[in-house]
Amino acid sequence: MTQNEQFMLLALEQAHLAQTKNEVPVGAIIIDGNQNVIARGHNTVFGLKSIIGHAEINTILEATQKLGTSRLISCSIYVTLEPCLMCIGTIMQARLSHLYYGANSYVYGALSKHLVAESSLHFKIHKQILAAPSIVLLQDFFKKKRSCQLCLAVDPTLAID
Ligand SMILES: [Zn+2]
Repeated sequence: MTQNEQFMLLALEQAHLAQTKNEVPVGAIIIDGNQNVIARGHNTVFGLKSIIGHAEINTILEATQKLGTSRLISCSIYVTLEPCLMCIGTIMQARLSHLYYGANSYVYGALSKHLVAESSLHFKIHKQILAAPSIVLLQDFFKKKRSCQLCLAVDPTLAID
Protein backbone atom coordinates (compact mmCIF):
# COMPACT_ATOMS: atom_id res chain seq x y z
CA MET A 1 0.00 0.00 0.00
CA THR A 2 1.37 3.40 -0.96
CA GLN A 3 1.62 6.25 1.49
CA ASN A 4 -1.14 8.08 -0.38
CA GLU A 5 -3.38 5.05 0.05
CA GLN A 6 -2.57 4.94 3.74
CA PHE A 7 -3.65 8.56 4.10
CA MET A 8 -6.79 7.82 2.10
CA LEU A 9 -7.56 5.01 4.53
CA LEU A 10 -7.68 7.64 7.28
CA ALA A 11 -10.13 9.64 5.18
CA LEU A 12 -12.18 6.47 4.72
CA GLU A 13 -12.27 6.07 8.51
CA GLN A 14 -13.91 9.49 8.61
CA ALA A 15 -16.38 8.42 5.93
CA HIS A 16 -17.31 5.40 8.08
CA LEU A 17 -17.80 7.75 11.01
CA ALA A 18 -20.18 9.86 8.91
CA GLN A 19 -22.09 6.71 8.01
CA THR A 20 -22.64 5.85 11.67
CA LYS A 21 -24.26 9.28 12.05
CA ASN A 22 -26.53 8.76 9.02
CA GLU A 23 -24.59 11.34 7.05
CA VAL A 24 -23.54 10.82 3.45
CA PRO A 25 -20.33 8.83 3.99
CA VAL A 26 -17.62 11.19 2.82
CA GLY A 27 -14.47 11.79 4.86
CA ALA A 28 -11.32 13.86 4.56
CA ILE A 29 -7.98 14.50 6.21
CA ILE A 30 -5.32 17.17 5.75
CA ILE A 31 -1.59 16.59 6.15
CA ASP A 32 1.06 19.26 6.48
CA GLY A 33 4.31 19.47 4.55
CA ASN A 34 5.95 17.08 7.03
CA GLN A 35 3.28 14.45 6.38
CA ASN A 36 1.66 14.94 9.77
CA VAL A 37 -2.13 14.62 9.91
CA ILE A 38 -3.36 18.00 11.15
CA ALA A 39 -7.12 17.70 10.61
CA ARG A 40 -9.83 15.10 10.09
CA GLY A 41 -13.43 15.67 9.14
CA HIS A 42 -16.54 14.20 7.61
CA ASN A 43 -19.88 15.20 6.20
CA THR A 44 -22.22 16.94 8.69
CA VAL A 45 -24.89 18.29 6.33
CA PHE A 46 -27.88 16.53 7.89
CA GLY A 47 -26.86 16.73 11.54
CA LEU A 48 -26.04 20.42 11.46
CA LYS A 49 -28.62 21.20 8.76
CA SER A 50 -25.86 23.01 6.93
CA ILE A 51 -25.32 22.86 3.20
CA ILE A 52 -21.68 23.83 3.71
CA GLY A 53 -21.04 20.90 6.04
CA HIS A 54 -19.08 18.94 3.46
CA ALA A 55 -16.11 16.87 4.62
CA GLU A 56 -13.62 19.12 2.85
CA ILE A 57 -14.97 22.34 4.37
CA ASN A 58 -15.09 20.89 7.88
CA THR A 59 -11.55 19.57 7.58
CA ILE A 60 -10.15 22.78 6.11
CA LEU A 61 -11.75 24.82 8.92
CA GLU A 62 -10.24 22.52 11.53
CA ALA A 63 -6.80 22.81 9.90
CA THR A 64 -6.90 26.61 9.62
CA GLN A 65 -7.99 26.92 13.24
CA LYS A 66 -5.29 24.55 14.39
CA LEU A 67 -2.54 26.31 12.45
CA GLY A 68 -3.91 29.79 13.13
CA THR A 69 -3.78 30.76 9.48
CA SER A 70 -6.19 30.87 6.57
CA ARG A 71 -3.54 29.59 4.18
CA LEU A 72 -2.66 25.93 4.13
CA ILE A 73 0.37 26.29 1.87
CA SER A 74 2.30 23.02 1.42
CA CYS A 75 -0.59 21.04 2.92
CA SER A 76 -2.51 18.30 1.11
CA ILE A 77 -6.13 17.18 1.42
CA TYR A 78 -7.35 13.62 0.99
CA VAL A 79 -11.08 13.17 0.43
CA THR A 80 -13.00 10.00 -0.38
CA LEU A 81 -15.25 11.59 -3.04
CA GLU A 82 -14.49 14.07 -5.80
CA PRO A 83 -15.10 17.60 -4.47
CA CYS A 84 -18.09 19.66 -5.58
CA LEU A 85 -17.75 23.21 -6.95
CA MET A 86 -18.05 24.74 -3.46
CA CYS A 87 -15.29 22.56 -2.09
CA ILE A 88 -12.94 22.86 -5.06
CA GLY A 89 -13.21 26.65 -4.64
CA THR A 90 -12.52 26.37 -0.92
CA ILE A 91 -9.50 24.14 -1.53
CA MET A 92 -8.20 26.78 -3.92
CA GLN A 93 -8.88 29.64 -1.48
CA ALA A 94 -7.12 27.74 1.31
CA ARG A 95 -4.03 27.46 -0.93
CA LEU A 96 -3.70 23.72 -0.46
CA SER A 97 -0.94 22.21 -2.60
CA HIS A 98 -2.41 18.81 -3.44
CA LEU A 99 -5.84 17.24 -3.71
CA TYR A 100 -6.15 13.45 -3.55
CA TYR A 101 -9.62 12.02 -4.05
CA GLY A 102 -11.29 8.62 -4.25
CA ALA A 103 -14.48 8.09 -6.23
CA ASN A 104 -15.56 10.30 -9.11
CA SER A 105 -18.86 12.15 -8.69
CA TYR A 106 -20.81 12.44 -11.92
CA VAL A 107 -23.57 14.71 -10.58
CA TYR A 108 -21.73 17.13 -8.29
CA GLY A 109 -18.06 16.63 -9.14
CA ALA A 110 -16.28 19.84 -10.10
CA LEU A 111 -14.15 18.00 -12.66
CA SER A 112 -16.29 15.05 -13.78
CA LYS A 113 -19.58 16.97 -14.01
CA HIS A 114 -18.83 20.66 -14.17
CA LEU A 115 -15.72 20.28 -16.27
CA VAL A 116 -13.55 22.65 -14.25
CA ALA A 117 -10.22 22.73 -16.06
CA GLU A 118 -7.45 21.27 -13.92
CA SER A 119 -5.06 23.79 -15.45
CA SER A 120 -7.15 26.59 -13.91
CA LEU A 121 -6.52 25.31 -10.39
CA HIS A 122 -3.50 26.16 -8.28
CA PHE A 123 -3.02 22.72 -6.83
CA LYS A 124 -2.18 19.29 -8.18
CA ILE A 125 -4.95 16.71 -8.45
CA HIS A 126 -4.52 12.98 -7.91
CA LYS A 127 -7.65 11.02 -8.80
CA GLN A 128 -9.21 7.73 -7.78
CA ILE A 129 -7.03 6.85 -4.82
CA LEU A 130 -8.79 3.86 -3.21
CA ALA A 131 -11.94 4.68 -5.15
CA ALA A 132 -13.50 1.21 -4.73
CA PRO A 133 -14.06 1.24 -0.94
CA SER A 134 -15.43 4.78 -1.20
CA ILE A 135 -17.92 3.69 -3.87
CA VAL A 136 -19.01 0.68 -1.79
CA LEU A 137 -19.64 2.92 1.22
CA LEU A 138 -21.68 5.40 -0.80
CA GLN A 139 -23.63 2.65 -2.56
CA ASP A 140 -24.54 0.98 0.72
CA PHE A 141 -25.68 4.30 2.11
CA PHE A 142 -27.88 5.21 -0.82
CA LYS A 143 -29.27 1.67 -1.08
CA LYS A 144 -30.54 2.07 2.45
CA LYS A 145 -31.94 5.47 1.55
CA ARG A 146 -33.46 3.89 -1.57
CA SER A 147 -32.14 6.74 -3.62
CA CYS A 148 -30.79 5.10 -6.73
CA GLN A 149 -30.33 8.43 -8.46
CA LEU A 150 -27.79 9.66 -5.92
CA CYS A 151 -26.03 6.32 -6.03
CA LEU A 152 -25.55 6.69 -9.74
CA ALA A 153 -24.02 10.08 -9.09
CA VAL A 154 -21.01 8.27 -7.69
CA ASP A 155 -20.56 5.74 -10.44
CA PRO A 156 -23.06 5.31 -13.28
CA THR A 157 -21.69 1.86 -14.06
CA LEU A 158 -22.84 0.58 -10.68
CA ALA A 159 -26.60 0.77 -11.04
CA ILE A 160 -28.75 -0.47 -8.17
CA ASP A 161 -32.08 -2.17 -8.88
ZN1 LIG B 1 -18.38 19.78 -1.45
